[in-house]
Amino acid sequence: MTFDFRSRFAAAATYSDQRFATLVLKADSLAAKLTQAQREELIAGALRCGTDAAQKLRTCFTSALPSEMARLLQLRTVAGQCAPAARTRMVLSSYDPRPATITLNRELMAKAGQWLAEEKLLPPFGLEELAIAHELFHYLESTDAGIFSRQFKICLWRLGPLRSRSTVPATSEIAATACSRILCHLSFNPILLEPVILRLYSPENVEAWFQRLEQAD
Ligand SMILES: [Zn+2]
Repeated sequence: MTFDFRSRFAAAATYSDQRFATLVLKADSLAAKLTQAQREELIAGALRCGTDAAQKLRTCFTSALPSEMARLLQLRTVAGQCAPAARTRMVLSSYDPRPATITLNRELMAKAGQWLAEEKLLPPFGLEELAIAHELFHYLESTDAGIFSRQFKICLWRLGPLRSRSTVPATSEIAATACSRILCHLSFNPILLEPVILRLYSPENVEAWFQRLEQAD
């Protein structure tokens, strides 16, 4: 049977946010160090954290547009390639707290948006607003040391009284994704943009991506 991208996408669009969060966590190199109970705590906490951030932003601003929120927060928005994650994975946007700047890969957005537009799947405010909404979470996170994504830590090693603790990067990504989905009223989980992008640059890996999602539970 040949691989049918459209039907695999449509099926995946009905999956729960927990399943997508599990996929993101599994891709994190620190995931193997977590117990099952810690994984569940991380996912539930990160989804709640992203939801709370979206509600906070909605309460603070009269405009529903993430770009307007970013402007009022005095975040700089620039167009360009997104580093450093882009070396291994194509990403639509990134946030750098010094100085507070959101970088948007508009070229990639245009290419990914083409298929979504044809399928009438574009987010209500467009891909750029979705990307800004994701980065607004990273901005909030950078200004709040008490936020769940910075508080949830695991022990990397222990030596007598010494121990090294670390945050788990997937926590931030799961929360930022939840925040952007809510702010932009998206009908599917934004992680589903990954295979849309992957299809443009390494189509041979798309089927394996969907298999990983289907096995994430
Ligand atoms: Zn992110």
